Amino acid sequence: MRVFKFGGASVKDAPAVKNLASIVSASEGNLVIVISAMGKTTNALEELIRLYFKRDEKKWEQFSLIRNYHDQIISGLFQNGDSIFSEIDTLYYKIEERLNRLPSLDFDFEYDQFICFGELLSTKIVSAYLNKNGIRNKWMDIRFCLKTDDKWREANIDWELSDDLVKEAFTFGEERIFITQGFIGATISDLTTSLGREGSDYTAAILGNILNAEKVEVWKDVPGILNADPQFFKNPVKVDEMSYREAVELTFFGAKVIHPKTIKPLKNKNIPLYVRSFIDPSSSGTIIGPGQDREYINPLPVYIMKEKQVLITISQPDFSFMNEKSMAWVFAIFSELEMKINLLQLSALNLSISIDVPEHGVIELIERLSEEFEVRYNDNLSLITIRHFTPEAIEKEISHRLVYVEQRTRRIARFLVKRE
Ligand code: ASP
Ligand code: MG
Repeated sequence: MRVFKFGGASVKDAPAVKNLASIVSASEGNLVIVISAMGKTTNALEELIRLYFKRDEKKWEQFSLIRNYHDQIISGLFQNGDSIFSEIDTLYYKIEERLNRLPSLDFDFEYDQFICFGELLSTKIVSAYLNKNGIRNKWMDIRFCLKTDDKWREANIDWELSDDLVKEAFTFGEERIFITQGFIGATISDLTTSLGREGSDYTAAILGNILNAEKVEVWKDVPGILNADPQFFKNPVKVDEMSYREAVELTFFGAKVIHPKTIKPLKNKNIPLYVRSFIDPSSSGTIIGPGQDREYINPLPVYIMKEKQVLITISQPDFSFMNEKSMAWVFAIFSELEMKINLLQLSALNLSISIDVPEHGVIELIERLSEEFEVRYNDNLSLITIRHFTPEAIEKEISHRLVYVEQRTRRIARFLVKRE
């Protein structure tokens, strides 16, 4: 069997859903199809949740926006009187019911109870549309078999429980195609959880692992994995094949090609991951997999941009050296405040650390560090990583920028630069 994953862009309007149907109808063999929320629905739901939590009556307007958007897609796919209308109304009703209740004090919990509707709506619509057009499939509520702990918004999979339940749920024989939600799961007491933004790739990998898929295919609006994000770099080129290791490195350094957790469950069972274009389904895309796990002979440079960085520079007030003891103290604070370090450089007197600017700013961090050290910081920076760098690549992307920190190993060059 295979797992297909379709992201938000591939179901963003009625023509997109029709295109998905043509891809699925051309497929053969057993299939699990994992689908994200339509278009930017998850962002719209996040706004809805914020309003709800603030007890702001504008929540009703926001709900209408989400509703109208889905209604418009449905009207482009179905005729009046189709049973999908009442199924979708049931979901709307459930959202409404929640909106009428007072929020609990736990924002992250409330978030998961609402955010799931994006995926529930999209999978219901796609499943019904395929069934109506002769592509028989079964809709599955993933929450009954993908079990997690209760770390809201970033739940961890309970592999043991999920393994049995997923195998029981997805039994091929009578059914060739299952359609289910990415990104969400549930606790053992059936409270909805979510796996972190963009988590549908990860769901596809988990199902691929448990069901021993032949391959997992992620359908995107790009021709495959590009060597650079077109938003930041000119003339990106498609990478035809890539090792698991390379893919993990890319996502670790901030490339948003696939969710960072996706590779491990696939690598553990040597399942290849195909990244393919839903705009040009006949093209080959990028293959990430076991056959590709060899050293590059002539690799393309890969450019990765991580924006919104702040560089914190820490030194001892009395001109003494940064030693292991002082560093241990510093790192304990970063760990306590759950701040992920992206780049680290040590000199005799300074420890320089770059992190993502946190939502609530860096004041608390600076205050804590200032208890023992002198602290300076620069913000408005970006971290550019060039894997398999060449002198030309550095010349092209870096020479015109103001560089704050530079690091090179044999294959990777990294530059913390002023944001343009
Ligand atoms: N719909 C979720 C999000 O936008 C999950 C996903 O798209 O993978 O983050
Ligand atoms: Mg998405």
